[in-house]
Amino acid sequence: MEQVVIIGTGCAGYTSAIYTARANLSPLMLSGSQPGGQLTTTTEVENFPGFPEGVMGPDLMMNMQKQAEKFGARIEYQQVENISRREDGIFEIKTNLGLIESQTVIIATGAAPRHLGLPNEKELIGHGLTSCATCDGAFYRDVPVAVIGGGDSACEEAVFLTRFASKVFLIHRRDELRASKIMADRVLATEKVTPVWDSHVVEYITDEEGEMTSVKLENLKTNELSNLDVKCVFVAIGHVPNSQFLGDLVDLDDNGYIKQIPGTTSTKTSGLFAAGDVADHVYRQAITAAGQGCAAAIEAERFLADA
Ligand code: NAP
Repeated sequence: MEQVVIIGTGCAGYTSAIYTARANLSPLMLSGSQPGGQLTTTTEVENFPGFPEGVMGPDLMMNMQKQAEKFGARIEYQQVENISRREDGIFEIKTNLGLIESQTVIIATGAAPRHLGLPNEKELIGHGLTSCATCDGAFYRDVPVAVIGGGDSACEEAVFLTRFASKVFLIHRRDELRASKIMADRVLATEKVTPVWDSHVVEYITDEEGEMTSVKLENLKTNELSNLDVKCVFVAIGHVPNSQFLGDLVDLDDNGYIKQIPGTTSTKTSGLFAAGDVADHVYRQAITAAGQGCAAAIEAERFLADA
């Protein structure tokens, strides 16, 4: 029987692990298909305190993992299918490899990239459609590419892609970026980036081999349609929280974020906590996820002490 199981290995998960491990609770972390979470798909993180020169996202996550393991956290690669709570209050976590019992569970499963919902999207992933510039940018050297979105992620991806692509089109559905001023100013000052305002993609167009060749755009102000030749589209239009596997144990808001009891990381089920992007639709920062991971760990520790 485990005392604490942490599901997810992003900033929230590792911070929970560091705190619960230091409290001698020997946490078990379950890592899904993206170990290290969203920061492993980013480049330089400039706003995580303590790194005046910035830090590469994957390096930051590797250090968090080392720190958690140093204090006794265990990491296993198992995909959680569902969780239930027995009458005696013990959680049963069903994974692809078996059943794990635990007194408390911290959900830190983060969020997955959102896509547009166009018909040939699934087939195009890996053939000119992606949501990770860090992972796939280098495959598209000296060719035009596009980024969809107007937030910090889209701006960051667009600037990063100028290292490889001949030209980067930033397709945004409005004529003003949502990104922070520093990111917006930076992207708009980048020579290779051309913003395409008030537009959205209505079709991904491919060649006979199924590789992306262009996108059909609609101007949302004039309804004019046009084609833009690009070899790859990087979609950066936000994320969907990974909360669907929790069933009735939690309440979700309209966008699928886990509802916490105000002022805490507790969910409506006692002993079940939620931290980071799976529960936070407001801040969604690495540092706030880490802060919530810390809070969830302390609350789990107190819950166990009172049990
Ligand atoms: P976001 O801030 O939610 O921005 C999503 C963007 O996608 C918005 O511009 C939105 O347009 C657009 N969009 C959403 N749905 C769309 C659709 N169906 N079709 C076309 N466009 C669509 O998401 P994010 O950029 O991933 O950022 C998430 C959080 O992480 C934010 O809090 C951000 O500050 C943070 N972040 C920080 C950094 C950093 O500080 N280094 C880097 C990356 C992310 P509208 O603007 O019209 O709504």
